[in-house]
Amino acid sequence: MTGSATFIPRVALVTGTTSGIGEAVVRHFSELGHQVLAVDFDSAGAEVAERVGASFFEADLTDGEACKAAVAEAIRRFGRVDILVNNAGIQHVAPIEEFPEAKWRQIIDLMLTAPFLLTQSAWPSMRENGWGRVINIASVHAQVASPGKSAYISAKHGMIGLTKTAALEGGAQGITANAICPAYVKTPLVDNQIADQAKLHGMEEQEVIEQIMLKNAAVKRLIEPGEVAELVAYLASNSAGAVTGSSWNIDLGWTAQ
Ligand code: NAD
Repeated sequence: MTGSATFIPRVALVTGTTSGIGEAVVRHFSELGHQVLAVDFDSAGAEVAERVGASFFEADLTDGEACKAAVAEAIRRFGRVDILVNNAGIQHVAPIEEFPEAKWRQIIDLMLTAPFLLTQSAWPSMRENGWGRVINIASVHAQVASPGKSAYISAKHGMIGLTKTAALEGGAQGITANAICPAYVKTPLVDNQIADQAKLHGMEEQEVIEQIMLKNAAVKRLIEPGEVAELVAYLASNSAGAVTGSSWNIDLGWTAQ
């Protein structure tokens, strides 16, 4: 048997951990018994990590040197990196004609270049140990587009290409790479969008959720961050050793149509 249900504690580096999906992943990993370095540019992440027994490293991941420093710090503190979860992300909504170039660059730097540099930096440690897991938090917007989100959608589509390439290069080295593609998850990133859209359309927030966010959903509810964290934990486990290069939709049925 190559797949094993036996739990093995690992060293995980998770990005974007002060709230939302990243926070849920750090909590779930810590509860399982993994050693976690939580990385975020928001210093409030230190307390969030400490609460669940994880370590924290402050880094603005739009800076390439900070990405490399985050991996170096995980290796300094724990001796290796086994699991990398690329999760940090932001959103900016504007039509292409009006999309600020600086915002485009910030989103691509954070959501495509940082995952590349973090993967590149963690790779030697994973290769030396003959075991590694790269888990990229993409989005339903890595599969389909919506107007107004050009940078986010381009970064997320790019992340699928990075995932597939890492899977091919890592296969012989015991390293897997997979992407998770959620629809709307109940996090601060979405709370802000609900408030903005309610103002924009003169709607109640509940109407925004039902008529805009869940328009394409078969299951009519928002996703809980913990549901994404459970999938991350599976992909990070020994049992998922044969799963690589794939995109896991957790999208309420959005892309089934
Ligand atoms: P969130 O806003 O709750 O969390 C994002 C985290 O990223 C925060 O902790 C923030 O401080 C951190 N961050 C932002 N800029 C950073 C930077 N420059 N350097 C380091 N850290 C930075 O959002 P979330 O909803 O939990 O999103 C997490 C990921 O999930 C994102 O990549 C997002 O695109 C993806 N996602 C979210 C949803 C959703 O509906 N919430 C759906 C699909 C995909």
